[in-house]
Amino acid sequence: MSLPSATAYDLVVVGSGPTGSTYAREVYEQHPTATILLLDAGPRLTERPGTHVKNIPHPAERARAQRESEGPGPAGRPGTRLLGSAALPAAALSTNVGGMGAHWTGACPRPGDGERVGFIPDAEMDAHLTRAEELLHVDAHAFDQAPFADEVRRRLSALFDPGRPAHRRVAPMPLAVTTRPDGAHTWSGTDVVLGGAAADERVEIADRCLGLRVVLDGDTATGVVVRDLVTGEERTVGARAVVVAADALRTPQLLYASGIRPPALGRYLNDQPQIVYAVRLPDDIVAAHRAVTGRTRDQDGAIVPQSGVSWVPYTDAHPFHGQVMQLDASPVPLADDTVVEPGAVVGLGWFCAKDISPDDRVEFGDTAADAYGLPAPRVHYRYSDRDLATIEQAKKAVAEAGAAVGIPLDDSPFLLPAGSSLHYQGTTRMGPADDGTSVCDSHSRVWNTRGLWVAGNNVIPTATACNPTLTSVALAVRGARALLDRLQAPAGQSTPAASRP
Ligand code: FAD
Repeated sequence: MSLPSATAYDLVVVGSGPTGSTYAREVYEQHPTATILLLDAGPRLTERPGTHVKNIPHPAERARAQRESEGPGPAGRPGTRLLGSAALPAAALSTNVGGMGAHWTGACPRPGDGERVGFIPDAEMDAHLTRAEELLHVDAHAFDQAPFADEVRRRLSALFDPGRPAHRRVAPMPLAVTTRPDGAHTWSGTDVVLGGAAADERVEIADRCLGLRVVLDGDTATGVVVRDLVTGEERTVGARAVVVAADALRTPQLLYASGIRPPALGRYLNDQPQIVYAVRLPDDIVAAHRAVTGRTRDQDGAIVPQSGVSWVPYTDAHPFHGQVMQLDASPVPLADDTVVEPGAVVGLGWFCAKDISPDDRVEFGDTAADAYGLPAPRVHYRYSDRDLATIEQAKKAVAEAGAAVGIPLDDSPFLLPAGSSLHYQGTTRMGPADDGTSVCDSHSRVWNTRGLWVAGNNVIPTATACNPTLTSVALAVRGARALLDRLQAPAGQSTPAASRP
């Protein structure tokens, strides 16, 4: 792809992950003539832009797509590259059309209790979450046939459900996945989020195009300076509205590079400390399952490589998000004569809500540059005493959950390196007022700047423990409504900037 074909668009979105694509889809559907440019620094991996790499059938093709998404620097999990931060050693980024949304697991739990944004009315947020579930094709029953999933949930329910409201009890994990008529699964990438927008000439997707800075005319965003990463050519594209959806580490980078530097920019960075533990179901349960279902080991193993995924929701009383994955192989070495029963090895991951602090931050300066020539990120991040106490409680909770499910395979639960959750939040957080602790309002409009929105997990202001993409897509749905108001305002009548009260 070369530079964008036109010199101006109604909407320019920097970053083609799930949240940038949500803005594109909502504006495309609700504004009959709007022209939209979606920029991404990374390559287009598949003919249909934004397809999840798990849907690429050939393993070598899939590996190629993952490698191409990693960008410059040391590789992290497939499809990501490590940021290279000592403070957040596992922090990783994806650089490709579709962003991390081409690689994600697709777990889409709704936030609950203290995870929810207190200054957005519940009914409004629920409507946005419902729309986000539609956009991502979320289904909680895609793996109902997985062996032992009911048994795992029965055991977890006995431990966790007493005293919980119905909607916060142990349940199958809602996943962004579609079950095809032949029983196979299609994972939702941003091709699904974009829907018909991806194939319409009103929407252009420019890959290998870096957003260098947002152009301002006074307090109004009027476009983006773009560099074609193949030819090095640069151009300014005009826009009536700009959305920066460049992930939680690079969205504040682009604002900084544009001279937009509110005091909260890059601050309140939080990643969910993640505790993991592995157990296996007792042999008598496995034998009883074989007797009742009549299914053999091979028949069970043919279902999916990672079968059941269950959810222990966050509540204020149990302030952790539990993701329970049944695996076909043990993550730890077993005795030589152990036969692994598909679905009977259970990995438990407990995500904690971080103690949010303005001192945890990604900061930028005017001298050091990253591999793209943008201001280099420097992360400051630590666990507070409260975090360390939370982590100990989570270890206890996951050990209890493991004991309820089966026989431990690990000696004890352990904490993964900081950044492992890949759920970085808070760096352009929203707030109810421009009091220096937020970057944007509850519609994701950057304070005191007209025509500029931010998107991604970075706008979430609360300490969530649950996988955050559903929430950030819901907040993008909300932001898109305000953006449409701007695009639909009669010529010459501009909507007010989000501003000091
Ligand atoms: P991203 O998807 O990160 O996309 C940002 C895009 O911006 C990138 O494509 C990047 O190339 C582009 N970009 C950055 N800077 C620029 C620039 N200057 N110019 C142009 N383009 C730029 N989340 C969940 O909720 N549930 C899960 O189960 C889950 N599992 C995951 C598993 C894996 C292996 C991974 C990698 C992630 C997982 N996540 C999960 C995280 C989830 O994918 C992210 O929360 C989500 O993709 C964030 O969407 P986004 O649109 O904000 O940003």
